[in-house]
Amino acid sequence: MAHVVILGAGTGGLPAAYEMKEMLGPAHQVTLVSENPYFQFVPSNPWAGVGWRSREEIVFEIEPHTKRKHIDFIAKRCDKIDAENNVLTLSDDSTIDYDYLVITTGPALAFEAVPGAGPFSGFNKATHSICTIDHAEKAHEAYMNNLDSDNPDPIVIGAMPGASCFGPAYEYLLIVLKDLEKRGARSKIPEVHFVTSEPYLGHLGIAGVGDSPAILSRHIKELGVHGHVNMNTQKVEDGKIFSQQVNEKGEPVKEETFDFGFSMMLPAFKGVDAVANVEGLCNPKGFVIVDEHQRSPKYPNIYSAGVCIAIPPVEATPVPTGAPKTGYMIESMVTALVHNIKSNIEGKEGKEEMGTWNAICLADLGDTGVGFVALPQFKPRRIDWYGEGPWVHWAKIAFEKYFMAKMKAGVSEPFYEKLLFQMLGISRLKSDEPKPFKKSA
Ligand SMILES: Cc1cc2nc3c(=O)[nH]c(=O)nc-3n(C[C@H](O)[C@H](O)[C@H](O)COP(=O)(O)OP(=O)(O)OC[C@H]3O[C@@H](n4cnc5c(N)ncnc54)[C@H](O)[C@@H]3O)c2cc1C
Repeated sequence: MAHVVILGAGTGGLPAAYEMKEMLGPAHQVTLVSENPYFQFVPSNPWAGVGWRSREEIVFEIEPHTKRKHIDFIAKRCDKIDAENNVLTLSDDSTIDYDYLVITTGPALAFEAVPGAGPFSGFNKATHSICTIDHAEKAHEAYMNNLDSDNPDPIVIGAMPGASCFGPAYEYLLIVLKDLEKRGARSKIPEVHFVTSEPYLGHLGIAGVGDSPAILSRHIKELGVHGHVNMNTQKVEDGKIFSQQVNEKGEPVKEETFDFGFSMMLPAFKGVDAVANVEGLCNPKGFVIVDEHQRSPKYPNIYSAGVCIAIPPVEATPVPTGAPKTGYMIESMVTALVHNIKSNIEGKEGKEEMGTWNAICLADLGDTGVGFVALPQFKPRRIDWYGEGPWVHWAKIAFEKYFMAKMKAGVSEPFYEKLLFQMLGISRLKSDEPKPFKKSA
């Protein structure tokens, strides 16, 4: 009997546990270890950051659902991975042995990269984050404090140098503006700034997709937001962001200080300590190095998926940026590694499948939305489409309900989802991708 341990029960880890158990059946043991007892649907955090979602709506206890699927769940943080001896040490000093380890620990948030940044800086007016439900709740409180004050100060939203997850920054900006409009409070806010490390609006860490630069620039202009690109934000003080704008060669051209009453600046990501500390497993930022089969070249019984893996930036940018890892792309990594672990248990090489890394993303803008399909995420792309319309708003709400229901039911990819995507020419595994049409001789 093989024991597969999955570390981290987020967007990648929980489906990985379900898919692994379904693939391996009762003959093998699957254990899921995660620092919190709950699953949170991270894509809804921009809504939580303005109070459009409560914690109860987007968070649920994991154990009842994994128990029904005969998956052992341990709600403890892992503090050490002994990859030579296949042992995890947890926060209470207990240990777990594994035959295979799947690392899906997501990002650690590198607030310290910009002195003074982050919700725990101690400043009265700090820069916030919406990366976790705890942070989104704190951001909502700060947003309301500014709004409810006698003279609200400017709002600054954006992304720090080295950030990779730009989509939620735009999404949050446009949701905040819609929220202000709904409250009839837009005129109370003297200025709104979008301050980003991207080289142009709509770059999104992936050199743009379809018309993303034109569409997002238009939204920002129409809503009276001051957009600032190539911003190398250097420090934060109470209610002040200090940034340097650079030119395309990366040379400083302008110093800017943004005063704010409320700010949400997405931080750069890095790997979590327990993973980053494993000798030879990670790149210098602590992201797990994997081959195209999601497997560690150094430790062949370790596989990894999600935000915690190392992928190169799509292109060099004047201020460093990273490439985002989006939900469907993560699910494709998960499906590939589950197949590979199963085949390795069965005596094969464990390198049979590759994920497609297709990216499909929906961003809500309040009552409309923008979505993109990048197949694959990295250029050259087979499909490169970016569109907008009220349908995206409804599609995002439907997706939230669907994904949460799927995670509670304990299914990673129901057959109808697979069928629908296949009909659209989209699949999780490279081996399922539509083959190019060959002319007969
Ligand atoms: C605000 C926001 C909105 C996003 N919206 C979208 C979207 O709309 N569409 C889309 O495609 N993508 C979106 N993404 C990108 C991506 O899909 C998410 O970041 C996704 O949650 C990443 O999944 P993950 O499994 O890699 O990490 P996570 O979902 O963050 O899961 C990591 C898990 O590991 C646990 N963990 C970490 N360290 C340890 C440890 N030492 N021991 C035990 N457990 C540990 C964490 O507690 C967590 O449960 C968004 C990202 C953000 C930040």
